[in-house]
Amino acid sequence: MAGLLSRWPFFRQLIGGGDGTGPEAMSEETRALRPRLDGAQIARSVCPYCAVGCGQLVYHRAGKLVAIEGDPESPISRGRLCPKGADSYELLTHAGRETRVKYRRPYSTEWEEIGLDRAMDMVAERVWETRERSFVEERDGLPLMQAPTMAHLGGATLDNEENYLIKKLFTAGLGMVAVSNQARI
Ligand code: SF4
Repeated sequence: MAGLLSRWPFFRQLIGGGDGTGPEAMSEETRALRPRLDGAQIARSVCPYCAVGCGQLVYHRAGKLVAIEGDPESPISRGRLCPKGADSYELLTHAGRETRVKYRRPYSTEWEEIGLDRAMDMVAERVWETRERSFVEERDGLPLMQAPTMAHLGGATLDNEENYLIKKLFTAGLGMVAVSNQARI
């Protein structure tokens, strides 16, 4: 009987003297509730969408993504994310997310799936073929070494190291002169 009474919030309020809004009002189920992100590990990241580069905390548990929230320690966004950035979790988990390479042949109206290795080879072949076709070694008797028909536009989430490698490969390596970034647009 005592056990039964002790589960009754009103009885607990009478005995404990609370005002009915504290622990005396909690059920066992409520007491057992844990925060949604309890026990999750956190990885620091940057929103993948735009040039603002808001900081994100990526919560994961047992190798699975749990949530993505704003990073209060980011000097750029101080914990805030716009509606688009706040939906980053869905970007990764939405059932409609495309995870295979789609290829549409010239003049075709249909998309077909191809393997990632083949797609990467096709990109590399096109880059090299374009460079070979348009490379200008000299102009007016002076060395030029430029590939003027190619350009590269980077995304805002590229970090310093990636931008360094892109600049080095595409300008010094391939001769591109038009290398820019989404952040400038
Ligand atoms: S949260 Fe919004 S403003 Fe911030 S980087 Fe992402 S898309 Fe841009």
